[in-house]
Amino acid sequence: MSYFRENIEQAKGYQPGFQPKQTDVLKLNTNENPYPPSPKVLEVLNEIKQEQLRRYPDPVGEQFRLAAAKVHGLSPDNIMCCNGGDELLTIALRAFCDRDRPVAYPVPTYSLYPVLANLQNCKAVEVPFDTDFTLPPQLAAAGAALTIVCNPNAPSATFIPVSGIASLADELNGVLLIDEAYIDFAEDNCLSLVADLDNVIILRSMSKGYGLAGLRFGYAVAPPPLIAGLMKVKDSYNVNAIAIALATAAIKDQSYFRKNVETIKKQRKRLAENLRALNFEVPESSTNFLLAKSKDGKAGEIYDKLVQRNIYVRYFDLPTLSDKLRITVGTGEQNDKLVSALKEILSNKEA
Ligand SMILES: *Cc1c(COP(=O)(O)O)cnc(C)c1O
Repeated sequence: MSYFRENIEQAKGYQPGFQPKQTDVLKLNTNENPYPPSPKVLEVLNEIKQEQLRRYPDPVGEQFRLAAAKVHGLSPDNIMCCNGGDELLTIALRAFCDRDRPVAYPVPTYSLYPVLANLQNCKAVEVPFDTDFTLPPQLAAAGAALTIVCNPNAPSATFIPVSGIASLADELNGVLLIDEAYIDFAEDNCLSLVADLDNVIILRSMSKGYGLAGLRFGYAVAPPPLIAGLMKVKDSYNVNAIAIALATAAIKDQSYFRKNVETIKKQRKRLAENLRALNFEVPESSTNFLLAKSKDGKAGEIYDKLVQRNIYVRYFDLPTLSDKLRITVGTGEQNDKLVSALKEILSNKEA
């Protein structure tokens, strides 16, 4: 006999990317930004008053909503603050799904979706992507209450054009949540759909492009009626006072943000070229990571040898991924270190 609900008892829980305790490691495994957040964020942190800790925070984080609305050319009613983008996934599943109202999403994708679906005790319909990671036509046919499309997708790093996402939203009877956690590194985004379609929710994160993974801050962008409904489901004080203040400072500093993103895109191009020169197959990426295919299929072995050198990338021992490594784009120096380690590993093998 267990004290837990049956689905909790059976659950394995989400496996986060390894967070090594040592500091002398090269960590390219969880898609963090290798550069610090805007200096404005630290300035605001240093000015935090005791009073901000003593009092409850603003339940909706209005100052962030105003700042985000201004950046996106929308209204604060289009924005809901979340304790990391991940919290929006939980809120959406609680708001739209239950035993009789399934969630659907194409796979492979972010491995948190099935974990959260199980917690909510709702059926998850997993529709396989084709090898080119275009939208599978069966996705709309699943008839789900909530459909999630991670765009750009992880771990494929691929981007589905906005027109394709718009037609999907149009076709669905339920809600379409577009997980744009990596959108800062792509060339387009789905924000324009929020004005035209009543069933679209966009997830944004401050963890990747803004370099604030430790802060835990993300937000939803959606038509006001959807935001109002999601607000009923969230915890009353879901984002803390310090996070609201710091996330606001970060999103206001668009010039720092854009420079940071451009640097990562430049490094991404360089790292991709270097990996291709080592005979990896590396498709174009719309994210801050690369999915590199080892042509001899020995990705698992290479992963182990990198770990021996204190270098962490991500390896998924899954059907379509077991010959690939997912590598976060680091600073130029970090990427060079990885590339020389790979050179060494690959030449030893041939010897
Ligand atoms: C990082 C990420 C998120 C959100 O992460 P938070 O740190 O909770 O903001 C959501 N979806 C995907 C695919 C991600 O990689």
